Amino acid sequence: MDLAYGPKYRALQEEVRGFVRSHGHLSPRTGGGRKRPDKRALAWQHLLLQHGYFARNIPKEYGGFGLPLDVMELAIIADEFSSAGVSPGIMNQGISMLVPTLLEVGSKEQCAKWVGPTIRGEVIWCQGYSEPGSGSDLAAAKTHARVEDGHFIINGQKIWTSSAHFADMMFLLCRTETEKGKHGGLSYLLVPMSAPGIDVRPLVTMTGRAEFNETFLTDVRVPIDQIVMRRGDGWHVANVTLKYERLLLGDPNKLTYRLARVIELMKKTSLEGVPTIQIPEYRDRLLRIQGEVLASKFHGLRLLSEQAKGEESGVRRLIVKLNGTMIAYRLSSLAVDVLGAAGLPYEPKGEALEDDEATTWQIDNMYDIGLIIGGGSSNIQRNIIGERGLGLPREPTADIKLGPKE
Ligand SMILES: Cc1cc2nc3c(=O)[nH]c(=O)nc-3n(C[C@H](O)[C@H](O)[C@H](O)COP(=O)(O)OP(=O)(O)OC[C@H]3O[C@@H](n4cnc5c(N)ncnc54)[C@H](O)[C@@H]3O)c2cc1C
Repeated sequence: MDLAYGPKYRALQEEVRGFVRSHGHLSPRTGGGRKRPDKRALAWQHLLLQHGYFARNIPKEYGGFGLPLDVMELAIIADEFSSAGVSPGIMNQGISMLVPTLLEVGSKEQCAKWVGPTIRGEVIWCQGYSEPGSGSDLAAAKTHARVEDGHFIINGQKIWTSSAHFADMMFLLCRTETEKGKHGGLSYLLVPMSAPGIDVRPLVTMTGRAEFNETFLTDVRVPIDQIVMRRGDGWHVANVTLKYERLLLGDPNKLTYRLARVIELMKKTSLEGVPTIQIPEYRDRLLRIQGEVLASKFHGLRLLSEQAKGEESGVRRLIVKLNGTMIAYRLSSLAVDVLGAAGLPYEPKGEALEDDEATTWQIDNMYDIGLIIGGGSSNIQRNIIGERGLGLPREPTADIKLGPKE
C-alpha cells in the first residue's frame, strides 16, 4: 500500500508549509475562544480566510473560500498548522457551532446575514442552553417565549453561559409550544445580547476569572423571523449544534497543536540540568499522550471521510468529545508538572497574564477540567455511547415510580 500523498496533495502541503514558514510569526498563541479576538487574532483570521486555510468549504456568498469539501486537503492544512504550533484560526461557539448549524438547517437569509461576520471574528456568539434545573437533561428547559406583535417575548434564566459577558448574540433554546411536550415544545432563537431585558451576571471560576455567566431574560423581544427552522423544531436544531460542539471540545487538531507546544516546553525546561523531555517519567507520560492524540487524529479523519461521503457518524462523534477533553486535561497537567516550581505560584491578574506561558498552562489546566463537564459531561457521553452505540440496556429514567408492588 502506498500511503504517500499524490502530486496534487504534495503541492498543497508545500504551499501550506511555505505559508506557515513565512507568516507563522504573525499567529496568535491560541484560538482565543475565551475572550474577544484582539487585533492580532482578527488580522490572522483575515489572512487565513484570504488564503483558504479557514472556512475553505463555506460558500463564497457567505464569506468562505468556496471550494468543494476535500477531506485530504483539510487534513493536510490542519496537520501543517498544528504540528508547527501555529493557530489554525479562531475557534469559538459562533464559528465552530452556530455557523455549521446555520449551514445545515438555517435559512439562506440567516446564512447570508450571520456566517460572514461570524467567521471573520466580528460577531461573537454565546450558547444559551443550560438552566439551573436542566443541564444534562437539556430538554427540560423552562425558559419560555410567547408570541406577541410579530415578536417572541422571552422570559427565564440560563446558566454557565460562556462568553455572554462579551458576546454580541446568543443562540437560545426555549419553550414555545406548551402543548407539544418536553422535546416537541422547544424552539431555537437568535437573540442580540444588547436587547433590553438581558442581564448578564459573571460567575468567577477557580481560575479567578469570570469565564461563564448567569443570564437572566425578562420580557426580551426578538423579531419572529429570528428562529432557526420552525417553532417546535428547537430540539432538532439544538442537537445539530451539539454535534458540532462535541467536535469543537475534543478537536484532534487542537490536541496536536497543544502536543507540539508541550514538546517545545519539555525541550526548554529542565530538572537538575536534564531537559525534561529526557527524563523517563515525563517522557513516558508524553509518549502515552502522543499515542492517544494520534488515535484521536485518525478517528477525526474517519469522521471527516464519513462526512465527505454523506454518511451519518452517529455516536462515533461522541468519542471525540469524551476522549478529546480527557486527553486535553492530561496534556495540560503534564505541562504544569513539567513547569516545576514555575507551575506552582498562581495569581490571576486579568487577561494580560495570559501572555505568560506558565499562567497560560495553569489556566488551560483548570479550564480543561470544566470541559470534561461542559457540552454534556463524560458520564452522559458514556451513557449515550453505551445505549445507542453498544446497544446496552437503557438506564432507568427518573419518571419510573419506585415503591412497593401492588
Ligand atoms: C466550562 C463550562 C462551560 C460551559 N459553557 C456553557 C455554555 O456556554 N452554554 C450552556 O448552555 N452551558 C454551558 N455549560 C454547562 C454544561 O453544558 C453543563 O454543566 C452540563 O451539561 C452538565 O449539566 P449540569 O451542570 O446541570 O449538571 P447536572 O446535569 O446536574 O449533572 C450533575 C452530575 O450528575 C451527572 N449526571 C446527570 N445525569 C446523569 C445520568 N443520566 N447518568 C449519569 N450521570 C448523570 C453528571 O455527569 C454530573 O456529574 C458549561 C459548563 C462548563 C463546565
